[in-house]
Amino acid sequence: ITNKIAFIGLGNMGAPMALNLVKAGHALQVFDLSAAAVGQLTAAGAKAAPSARAALEGAEVVVTMLPASSHVEQLYLGADGIAGHIPDGALVVDCSTIAAASAQAVARACAARGLDMLDAPVSGGTAGAQAGTLTFIVGGAAEALERARPYLSAMGKNIFHAGASGAGQTAKICNNMLLGILMAGTAEALALGVANGLDAKVLSDIMAKSSGRNWALELYNPYPGVMDNVPAARGYQGGFGVDLMLKDLGLAAQTALASHSAIPLGELARNLYGMHSLAGAGARDFSSIIEPLLAGRLP
Ligand code: NAD
Repeated sequence: ITNKIAFIGLGNMGAPMALNLVKAGHALQVFDLSAAAVGQLTAAGAKAAPSARAALEGAEVVVTMLPASSHVEQLYLGADGIAGHIPDGALVVDCSTIAAASAQAVARACAARGLDMLDAPVSGGTAGAQAGTLTFIVGGAAEALERARPYLSAMGKNIFHAGASGAGQTAKICNNMLLGILMAGTAEALALGVANGLDAKVLSDIMAKSSGRNWALELYNPYPGVMDNVPAARGYQGGFGVDLMLKDLGLAAQTALASHSAIPLGELARNLYGMHSLAGAGARDFSSIIEPLLAGRLP
């Protein structure tokens, strides 16, 4: 079965996700503020829309993949936001990582129109987006998730129902707080080994078969030259931006404040990425957090 899908937000993640929906045979109408981002999709057969609202024309499914809460709220709920213009009966899926409260606000506006809306943030990085192996972490009604399953399956491999509206975002934030901590810790361990004469690849191989193993080490190694096809192999371009990680750690801090939770390592990681961003690394991949630890010892 093929459907007409409006896809808005074609960045590092949105573009490869939308491409997989095209490959699955769906008719995509796409929009991004960046013309370059749209070009990749039209080359693959998607139709470029002149605005987000125009992309909704006849859509049975609406997918959005934007940077942060403010972009999502502005798009759906801002002056003349799209919530009021989505075709009747369409299914709405936001895959951005945003505050649970923002996801719930959009879901309420959709519900007022009788539309099903899911928060469905993803994990797996740009490589997972390209390979169609993302993990979807979904909040919203179980029946809405069943409606979304065929589309999510075209873009991902694992689909989890975290709970009611907003629960997908809460689970995603817990995951990304851990990821931020693991990447910083992995960088620190590798830099310590290298400073003491170890080869980063040898140390990585050792830790990958030892108790320090983790996703950042094994699939997203931050040390240049240890792995191909990761941001460290291309000057930390593309991938998952420092400022996006900083946004997620900020969401974790807000979530912790609201629930009187202690997140000592999450807060430390937030400050590390914050200083890294202030030093000018905001647009680089988050694995570049190893750079200040390697200063003067860069390979
Ligand atoms: P990105 O910055 O590469 O892409 C965002 C895109 O949204 C850009 O192309 C931008 O032009 C577009 N955009 C912004 N406002 C818009 C608007 N109003 N209308 C249309 N387009 C608009 O970001 P990304 O890396 O693709 O991440 C997107 C979301 O996914 C973020 O919430 C991020 O935290 C999350 N995420 C990213 C990764 C990753 O590895 N990059 C992994 C999992 C989740």
